[in-house]
Amino acid sequence: MTPFDVRILGTGIVSRAAALSLARIGLNVALQARPEGAPASTDVRTYALNPSSVQLLERLRAWTTLPEDARTAVLDMQVQGDAHASRIEFSAWRQAVPALAWIVDAGALENVLDAAAGFAPQVTLQAEPGPAPLTLVCEGKASLSRAQLGARFVRHAYGHTAVAARLVADRPHAGCARQWFRAPDILGLLPFDRPEAGCSYGLVWSLPQSEAQRWLAAAPEEFEAGLMAATGGEAGQLRLAGERAAWPLALGHAEPVTGPGWALLGDAAHQVHPLAGQGLNLGLADVVALTEVLADREVWRALGDPALLRRYARRRALPTWAMARVTDGLWHLFAHENVGWRELRNHGLSLVNHLAPVKRWLASQALDV
Ligand SMILES: Cc1cc2nc3c(=O)[nH]c(=O)nc-3n(C[C@H](O)[C@H](O)[C@H](O)COP(=O)(O)OP(=O)(O)OC[C@H]3O[C@@H](n4cnc5c(N)ncnc54)[C@H](O)[C@@H]3O)c2cc1C
Repeated sequence: MTPFDVRILGTGIVSRAAALSLARIGLNVALQARPEGAPASTDVRTYALNPSSVQLLERLRAWTTLPEDARTAVLDMQVQGDAHASRIEFSAWRQAVPALAWIVDAGALENVLDAAAGFAPQVTLQAEPGPAPLTLVCEGKASLSRAQLGARFVRHAYGHTAVAARLVADRPHAGCARQWFRAPDILGLLPFDRPEAGCSYGLVWSLPQSEAQRWLAAAPEEFEAGLMAATGGEAGQLRLAGERAAWPLALGHAEPVTGPGWALLGDAAHQVHPLAGQGLNLGLADVVALTEVLADREVWRALGDPALLRRYARRRALPTWAMARVTDGLWHLFAHENVGWRELRNHGLSLVNHLAPVKRWLASQALDV
């Protein structure tokens, strides 16, 4: 008989979070190890995490293990349209929460979770994990095991690429996240404390593919001048602090998400545009939902029982579908360069900014997935 209850495929954040979370409810986990000799992650991205994700990381003892400068609270958020004065502003103070979100170092989070999994007594790291009655596929959007299990991935490419980098500004960020919907590109600056405390940003700039290639190849000074032009200097003079990296963007979902003895989690189950910073939040919410479903199962029910796993799929269907619709809807709304659309969306932003209850509702939705 196998010593494991669950085997987990994949080596990213969702796989580690799932292993630690299931070990906490007493399950023995075989977790895929990073390839022998693989260096620690140096992912340049910064992730915006919502309070539910932070609570999960706190329960897994990973949050406080993150170095102080690898997690920064977002106190204010400004979202701007492509016309002068069209903007919407959110504040943690008005929302009566300690922070609207937290910005974390993607590589640091991955490394902290990987180390925690290595120390957890009920988690065994193996190059080829298994076998076990339940297999969790957390292999990300390009998962191979997903197709082998009979699930298909419906994918729509946006034709856009996200350019990510770390920046340092010549003035403090004051915990303010900024986003410009510029039609057709979308630029986000996430306040951060690395490499310089109080004045660094994580950049996520989503652009049509050809433009992204141009900015990736541009000399640092030219890139910085492009950032100044795009942001109107609102965050100060921005200096590139390290490498630029790029990711092609798509919308995707798997069908089905579960089957006899298996379930998909994270980007292996769904992929969304990063404009709302919610992809990983959805994956961590998958972990929470699956842990609850397995912990609450009837004593006679096997871990791989398809009816049990369908409970997980049902719980995640609506939040995942809704987030895909919101991000895709926003992308299409702001992708149009037509003047009529431009007027409509910019008036919409200004109107919502003056409707306090609508704004509070929007922020509360974004705070929890
Ligand atoms: C530019 C950008 C910015 C983003 N910003 C945010 C944000 O602010 N907030 C947010 O919540 N989300 C954000 N996201 C989304 C986030 O990156 C993903 O949702 C998240 O990384 C998914 O985690 P995962 O563990 O499911 O998949 P992955 O991160 O893809 O991890 C899966 C890992 O498993 C490995 N793997 C796959 N198959 C095998 C195998 N057979 N053997 C060994 N290893 C294997 C893969 O190589 C990969 O490293 C952003 C995405 C992009 C592109």
